[in-house]
Formats: sequence, C-alpha cells, structure tokens
Amino acid sequence: MVAQVIDGKAFAAKVRGQVADQVAKLKEENGITPGLAVVLVGEDPASQVYVRSKGKMTVEVGMNSYEHKLDVDTSEEDLLALIDKLNNDPAVHGILVQLPLPKHLNEDLVINSIDPAKDVDGFHISNVGLLGTGQKSMVPCTPLGCLMMLRDHHGSLSGMDAVVVGRSNIVGKPMAQLLLGDSCTVTIAHSRTKDLPEVVRRADIVVAAVGRPEMIPGDWIKEGATVIDVGINRIERDGKNKLVGDVDYASAAERAGAITPVPGGVGPMTIACLLANTLTACCRANALPEPEGLTA
Ligand code: NAP
Repeated sequence: MVAQVIDGKAFAAKVRGQVADQVAKLKEENGITPGLAVVLVGEDPASQVYVRSKGKMTVEVGMNSYEHKLDVDTSEEDLLALIDKLNNDPAVHGILVQLPLPKHLNEDLVINSIDPAKDVDGFHISNVGLLGTGQKSMVPCTPLGCLMMLRDHHGSLSGMDAVVVGRSNIVGKPMAQLLLGDSCTVTIAHSRTKDLPEVVRRADIVVAAVGRPEMIPGDWIKEGATVIDVGINRIERDGKNKLVGDVDYASAAERAGAITPVPGGVGPMTIACLLANTLTACCRANALPEPEGLTA
C-alpha cells in the first residue's frame, strides 16, 4: 500500500481562508475585528521567527495583531502587569505568551494569569480541565490541527484504536483527550511504555509527538493506519540541514493508509488553528455563534 499524503499546507490554507471569510463577515455585520496579542520575552531566534510569522498571518486573515516584545530581563511583575492590561483590553480577544520563557519567569504562573477566555494556546489550567471534562474550552492549537485533519480524512473517528506517542501537556495529553472526545479507544505511550512497537502496531491512528528524529519505523505501522507526525527535528544528512518528523516517512508511507509529511503536515496547521481559536474567542466574547468546523 502506498499512503495517501495528508497535505497540511493545503489544509491550513483552507482553514485560514475560512477564518478570513468569517472575519470579513464579523467586520461587515457586527463592526468587530478580532485581535490577537503576542508577547515575546527575550530574543530566542526560533521564537522570533514564530512570532513574526504569527503576526503576518494574523494580519493576512484581516485580524488586528498586537506584538509586545519585552527585554530578556523583564521582571515577572512587569510581565504580569502587561497580561493584566491585555486581559482587560476589549480589542484583544486572544493572548499568546511565546514559550519558552527566560528561566527567571515562572511559566505556569504566567500562563495561568491569562484570562482563560483569551487563552488561545489552551494552556491555562481552566482550559485543561474543561477539555478533560468534555466541556467547551480553548483547545491547544497543534492537537486541534491534528484532529481537524483526522476528521477531514475519516469523517467519524468513533471506535478507532488511537495511539498517541508522547505525553506532553502541549501535545500528547490534549491530543489524547480530543481523540477520546471523538470516541476513539486511546492509548498514551511514552518513554517507559513496554514493547512500544507492539502498542503502535495495534493502532488505526498513530499520533507521534516525541521529538526524536525518525524514531518510528514503517514496520511498527499497521497496514492502512493513519499516521500523524507532529515531530519537528532538525538533522544533518549528506552535509545538508534537513527537517524530519518522529516517523520514518519513507518506510511508514509504504504501509500506512494516509500520512502527514514533515515539513508540510502538522506544522502549518498550528498557526491556522491559533487564528481559528482567536476567531472563536472573539465570537464567544461577543455572544455570537461560533464558526463551524473550527473548534473541537
Ligand atoms: P516533549 O515535551 O519533549 O515530550 C516528548 C514526549 O515523548 C514525552 O512524553 C516523552 O516521554 C516521549 N518520549 C521521549 N522518548 C521516547 C521514546 N524513546 N519512546 C516513547 N516515548 C518517548 O515534546 P513535545 O513538546 O510534545 O513535542 C514533541 C515533538 O513535536 C517535538 O519534535 C516538537 O518539536 C514537535 N512539536 C511540533 C509542533 C508543530 O506545530 N508541528 C508543535 C509542538 C511540538 P516521557 O514523558 O516519559 O519523558
């Protein structure tokens, strides 16, 4: 079997198009423009790239983008004061604090100081609890993007065996909750899982979120399974820098029914879902109906 490629780049462009249409409608019918505030502390090069592209895409879909760049030695007090200001600013519907933060700042404290209704990353403890109990929440962007692609490919996920490899708070755990919410039978695997190859071989859906280049080979994949590769790993091969996932794409594509490539799979969906979450937050803040197909 040669796997169908799930084109995350094209899918993300479609989602951004849907968001842009809804934003135009909000402006025209309600005079409201959704606004996303992104806070960057310090000068981490990767974070600067992410923040730049988030700002660019926010503007492209017609939203207002507010960037706050703070010095690396910004105090916790000053950062919390800025978040408080953004929490109380009616023009700001979504707030994202770019992680990781410099070591002297308490990440949990900072994230939990964001108004949960504006927490478009879905990391606030209230949103984690709401998702875990099947209630309306803000859903973390990367797992939301994976869920959207799975729903688009399969329609219903009900009754499917899903294995999520990785148990991080930002990807693995919320991914498992979302799959459970769609009635999959879910296994979460991690570094202490016994006989990981056998666990993965049971899965109709494999979500790999490990951070180890090409760790999952094709012979762990059940024939016809759907493989979602969240991993983004930079490696050097044949003297060139290359991005690879957590799955060995070439061998997995020979057995899977469908697979996301790296790059061009999950990655582009993350920012698209950030924009979708900002739109959702804006609609909720204004007691307007939520956009269809853009939330969990
Ligand atoms: P993380 O916090 O480092 O978590 C990695 C998880 O993988 C942990 O639960 C760990 O288990 C597990 N693990 C490590 N080695 C393993 C092994 N040999 N066998 C089984 N499980 C193992 O990573 P993350 O933040 O979830 O990110 C995972 C990957 O996704 C990274 O490559 C990251 O760059 C990428 N990512 C991509 C996007 C995107 O937009 N596409 C967004 C976020 C992350 P333990 O808990 O037992 O240590």
